[in-house]
Amino acid sequence: MIEIIRDIKIDILSGKYKCIDSYKIPKNTESWSPCPNCGLRPLVWEFDNGRATACGCGKNKYDHFSIWTESIMSHVKRNGGSALNYNSDKLMINWNYWVHNGIELEPREQLLKEGKW
Ligand SMILES: [Zn+2]
Repeated sequence: MIEIIRDIKIDILSGKYKCIDSYKIPKNTESWSPCPNCGLRPLVWEFDNGRATACGCGKNKYDHFSIWTESIMSHVKRNGGSALNYNSDKLMINWNYWVHNGIELEPREQLLKEGKW
């Protein structure tokens, strides 16, 4: 666990991650599988208004590969102000599913089409 976090910090400092500084090392780091393409465990951007991953895949820190899921605020707005049934593990579930099956459970376009962000 400590080794995993140390390795991620080294990879961040080495500039291997393609993302802005707002992406952070997720909780339960060891539960996130490494990316099959770049080998890095993802960093996550989890704010009221968005939830996405970043690894070493992509062109640069503004244009990179991400796995997405719905943000807490989007969920609350769609559910009449309630956070009930909000799955705080959903981004990790979506990430690990993509790693092991090559399928995005919630592609960005689909989320937006469904009024989720
Ligand atoms: Zn990657």
